[in-house]
Amino acid sequence: MSNWPELEKRYFMPTARRLPLTLVRGQGMRVWDDRGRAYLDFVGGWAVNSLGHCHPVVVEALVEQARTLIHVSNQFYTVPQLLLAELLVQNSCLDKVFLCNSGAEATEGAVKLARRYGKLYLDGAYQVITALDSFHGRTLAMVAASGQRKFQEPYTPLPDGFANVEYNSAGAIKAATSSLTCAVMLEPIQGEGGVNIPDEHYLREVAAWCQEKGILLILDEIQTGVGRTGTLFAYEQAGIEPDIMTLAKGLGSGVAIGAILAKERASVFAPGDHGSTFGGNPLASAGAYAALKFIIENNVPGNARDVGQHLLARLESLRSRFDFIVEVRGRGLLVAVQFDSDIADRIVMACLESGLLLNRVKPDALRFMPPLIVNQKEVDEAVDILERVLGEAGKSIIRSGE
Ligand SMILES: *Cc1c(COP(=O)(O)O)cnc(C)c1O
Repeated sequence: MSNWPELEKRYFMPTARRLPLTLVRGQGMRVWDDRGRAYLDFVGGWAVNSLGHCHPVVVEALVEQARTLIHVSNQFYTVPQLLLAELLVQNSCLDKVFLCNSGAEATEGAVKLARRYGKLYLDGAYQVITALDSFHGRTLAMVAASGQRKFQEPYTPLPDGFANVEYNSAGAIKAATSSLTCAVMLEPIQGEGGVNIPDEHYLREVAAWCQEKGILLILDEIQTGVGRTGTLFAYEQAGIEPDIMTLAKGLGSGVAIGAILAKERASVFAPGDHGSTFGGNPLASAGAYAALKFIIENNVPGNARDVGQHLLARLESLRSRFDFIVEVRGRGLLVAVQFDSDIADRIVMACLESGLLLNRVKPDALRFMPPLIVNQKEVDEAVDILERVLGEAGKSIIRSGE
């Protein structure tokens, strides 16, 4: 057996903070490492594997499409991207679709779309207001959009045209709006920022403000979309409609794909304004179409809502048992456990050793984003493991405090 960490060290740029685990196979809720050991997966490829690992519907669609047509350029019509676009429009409040390959590419494209709108209808306004602690991707412009200093400082000077303001404050957005503003871009719930859920009226107030000012509301649903929070899209629960929405992560249940969706009036790209070599290619589109169709037809968002409630309830009961858990928050299957100190890495490692994969979203918080097909029994299995690990951690916290 090869020493994969050694190979990584020698040949791979060390951008990822890896756990000491080489995964070689996945099926449903479980993955296996190179020693044949199984793990219950509550990371789900960072909210990507919405139907779990190697779901037969996705695998069949990919194999069939790979035998038929993998790629041609976007100067030709191809069928899978059109079926996917139709399905997205029929099941959302948006009218037009552009397909790309990742989340950052989708948000970057959404900002370009808003700037086109600004040039055409808002006297050249180009500035986009975004939130502190947001995450919109790793391209240079999206680093400027994401209001997190740790992603920005290594790369200054950053592209101009973004104002990062406090999240969950409509007042901060109002104060930052000027004649230069063409759009506001927000996550309905901040994912990478720590599963931060805004007050109920926040998105409604921001949407009303955007409408009043004639500027665009872009919702980045790359993490919250495609069923994650218990409805197909998170905007449905906020009772608002965005002008532009971005999707990626869970859209393809593992296939790399991103999408920009826009209302008719915001769909202002003309031929040649934007493009992609791989975006909307037959292989990725066929996989995403199969995944999305299955998610819609089988009410997978409803499962995320119900099982998510069970997960929240079980974690809440841990909070009453362990006083170093200060908060449990989440919606659907996007959930965080907040500790009173930086113990998340230790908990993740101990859970891994017990056969459960979890994500550390902040030094003092865990994030749960399992496949949306998870059931109550698997939630119980995961929480039982976590409970045992926290029991041990609690003892060592008390010991280290003595
Ligand atoms: C993950 C994420 C992105 C970036 O997606 P990539 O595919 O990694 O480029 C953008 N926005 C949100 C809300 C995300 O969660």
